[in-house]
Amino acid sequence: MSAKVELHLHLEGAAPPDLIRQLAGEKKIDLTGVFAEDGGFATGDFQRFLKVYEAASSVLTTPEDYARLTRAVLERQRDHGVIYGEVFASPQLAAKNDMAAWRDHVDAVREAADGVDGIEWRMIPTCVRHFGPDDAKGAARCAAETAGSFVTGWGMGGDEGAGKPGDFAWSFDCAREAGLGITVHSGEFGGPQSVRDALDDLRPARIGHGVRAIEDLALVDRLAEDGVVLEVCPGSNVYLGVFDRLRAHPIEDLRRRGVRVTVSTDDPPFFRTNMTAEYEALHEAFDWDDGVFHEINRTAARAAFCDEATRAGLLKKLEAAWTT
Ligand SMILES: [Zn+2]
Repeated sequence: MSAKVELHLHLEGAAPPDLIRQLAGEKKIDLTGVFAEDGGFATGDFQRFLKVYEAASSVLTTPEDYARLTRAVLERQRDHGVIYGEVFASPQLAAKNDMAAWRDHVDAVREAADGVDGIEWRMIPTCVRHFGPDDAKGAARCAAETAGSFVTGWGMGGDEGAGKPGDFAWSFDCAREAGLGITVHSGEFGGPQSVRDALDDLRPARIGHGVRAIEDLALVDRLAEDGVVLEVCPGSNVYLGVFDRLRAHPIEDLRRRGVRVTVSTDDPPFFRTNMTAEYEALHEAFDWDDGVFHEINRTAARAAFCDEATRAGLLKKLEAAWTT
C-alpha cells in the first residue's frame, strides 16, 4: 500500500455508519432517515447530504465520542495507505463555539490520534458557511486559541451558495494572525467567480475543491502562477453530481495546465469512497501511474499545514514508497 497524504477530510463526515448507529443506540437518539437499506448513509444531492450529515453528527457530543471517532477514522485511513492527514472539524458543531468544550474536543482528538501508529494528523477548525459570518467569528476565536503544533489551519465548509467570502474576512484574518494555514471550500457548486472572490477576499494557500475554475482559463492560469493548491475530491464531486463521471472531471486538465492538485476523499462513507478507490479510479480514467501519484502526494506534503521537520519526513517516505 503506497504512502498517501490526504489534506481534505471532514472528521464528522468520515464517521463510519456503524459508529454513528452505535452511539445513537447508546444515547437513544432517533436517526430515522439517516441510513440507507445497505446500512450506509442515505445521502443524495448536496442539500440532502448536508441534512443527513448534520443528523448523523448530532450523536457526536462528548470528547469521548470524538476520541472513538478519531480512532475509527484514523484506522480506516491507515488501511488505505494514508501516512499523513489533515482533518476538518467545526467548533460550531459539537462544541457550539464554547471555548472550554472545544479545547476538550481538540485534546480528545489529539490524544486519540497520538495513540494510533503509522499515521500522523493535524486538525483544521472550520466555520460552516451557511451558519453565517457572526457564528464564524466564534469558531475563529476557538481556532486561534488552540493554534499550535496540532491545530495548524483554518477553513470554511458548508453551503457555498450562502453569503460571500468577503463576509467572513474577519474570521480568516483572526485565524491568519494566530499563525494558521488558510484553506476555503470554493468552486464546487459555485463557479469561477466564487473562486475569484475567495482568492481576493480570503487569500487562501489552498482551496477545497476549486475544480469549477476550469470554466475560466484565466483563473486557471492565476491558480497555477500563484501556486494555490487544490484539495480535489473527485469521488465526492461525481457522487454529488458536480460532474457526471470521473472522465468528465477536470483534475487531469487542471494538472496539465500547471495547477497544483492533490487528491482526498472529503466525506468518504457518505460518498461511498476511500483513498484506494480514488487512486484506482484515477488510474483507470486518466492512466495515472506511480510518477503522477508521487507528484500529487509531493504537492500535498509541500502544502501540508505542518512543521518543516514533519514535511521533510513525509517527502522522504513518499520518495521511498513511489519510486521503488
Ligand atoms: Zn469538504
